[in-house]
Amino acid sequence: MENELFYDKKTGWDRMSADERHAMHDYAEGYKQFLNEAKTERDAVAFLKAKAESLGFVPYTRGMEVKAGDKYYKVNRNKAIILTVIGSEPLSAGINLTAAHLDAPRIDIRTVPLYEDNGMAFFKTHYYGGIKKYQWPTIPLELRGVVCRVTDEGIESIQVRIGDKPDDPLFVISDLLIHLASDQMQKSMMKGIAAEKMNVLIGSQPSDSETDTSDKIKLAVMEYLNQAYGITEEDFLSAELCCVPAFPARDIGFDRSFVGSYGHDDRVCSYPAATALFDYDEIPTKTAMAVLVDKEEIGSDGVTGMQSHFFDTLIADLCRAQDVLPEECLENSTCLSADVCNAFDPNYPEVSEKRNDARANCGLALTKYTGSRGKSGASDATAELMAKIRYLFRQNNIIWQTGQLGKVDQGGGGTVAMFMANRNIDTVDAGVPVLCMHAPYEVIAKLDLYATYRGFGAFYGMK
Ligand code: MN
Ligand code: MN
Repeated sequence: MENELFYDKKTGWDRMSADERHAMHDYAEGYKQFLNEAKTERDAVAFLKAKAESLGFVPYTRGMEVKAGDKYYKVNRNKAIILTVIGSEPLSAGINLTAAHLDAPRIDIRTVPLYEDNGMAFFKTHYYGGIKKYQWPTIPLELRGVVCRVTDEGIESIQVRIGDKPDDPLFVISDLLIHLASDQMQKSMMKGIAAEKMNVLIGSQPSDSETDTSDKIKLAVMEYLNQAYGITEEDFLSAELCCVPAFPARDIGFDRSFVGSYGHDDRVCSYPAATALFDYDEIPTKTAMAVLVDKEEIGSDGVTGMQSHFFDTLIADLCRAQDVLPEECLENSTCLSADVCNAFDPNYPEVSEKRNDARANCGLALTKYTGSRGKSGASDATAELMAKIRYLFRQNNIIWQTGQLGKVDQGGGGTVAMFMANRNIDTVDAGVPVLCMHAPYEVIAKLDLYATYRGFGAFYGMK
């Protein structure tokens, strides 16, 4: 007989029917396409905007009507997007919103990046987000981003994407051969790879041009870029280019139960947040919203991060259209801060605490608080909110578990939760557990992805 008095963290496999397992694998196929297409926040915004438009969402501009069933999106500077379905209740009843991020750790190209050294041309880089630097040399890299070209005629944005097509060249950061690495191997993993040595190899063939310069390889690179994109070296000054891992998303394991990919953090939450809203086929009681932002990996600051007033301005605009106080809307709103947590790794059990850390295949992980050193930087959801979400998941048969970020003294981290909670929105972290988070190749379980999609769908319908 099952012990009903104990709480036991179990995998969700025995609660997944054959049909649901099939639906889970199908859903993961769409997710893998999204991963391959959207490796930067700009890519993700373009993808989700196109998808939203195909489903009848229209761009919201100040002064438009806001009535039940309306579907709106709002793009912030091509790097963040808010998707909204207006509910049958007025906005004063609050919004059920998810907040996830579209940025991921990567290798950004510097403002003045291009140089030639000893017969090779390189880009200088500055890594973005928290990375273990040693994981990024000697892997294939793609180049993605935008160059805003300036000429006498004006400004033109040029999209750059090299490396995702089968015939494209790739790029790489070199590392020292083991034969000559005896000094390097003595260093700590923190110091083994210096940021200033993380230069991306981009060419070695000199230009045939008669132009008077000793940097013929650099010149050849500029000739190529000028021919392909019409840019000059000065145009790098107004560019956002980055290198991202070139591996495509693939199933992992004989049973294909995992997906390996770059950028699960946090596309594995932003994709369900968006698609659960897209697939919600009734008019929700409360307004449902997916807030998908940039800059989480570097503190949520800046004009496209979760701390930006872009969000508050949209809320104010929507509320004004219904003659509702934005403060009243926010105080009645509920937010799932949709971000990943660590999955317990049997190879590194020493950093986790088994009873509380999330485990792969146990479902959507609800994390009451994140933070570090005594919950610093956490929003710490109330017991009442935890109960409300528990009840919702119970009523909707959602496979879920609780999570935390490892042993208390081991480190920690934060999400956008506190920035939502600071706005007087009841907020709790909810997302997919990830193995090797922030590595160029992260791993998630399809069961958890699908449970998160179903959980977010239930949440959008919460009365
Ligand atoms: Mn994250
Ligand atoms: Mn992260």
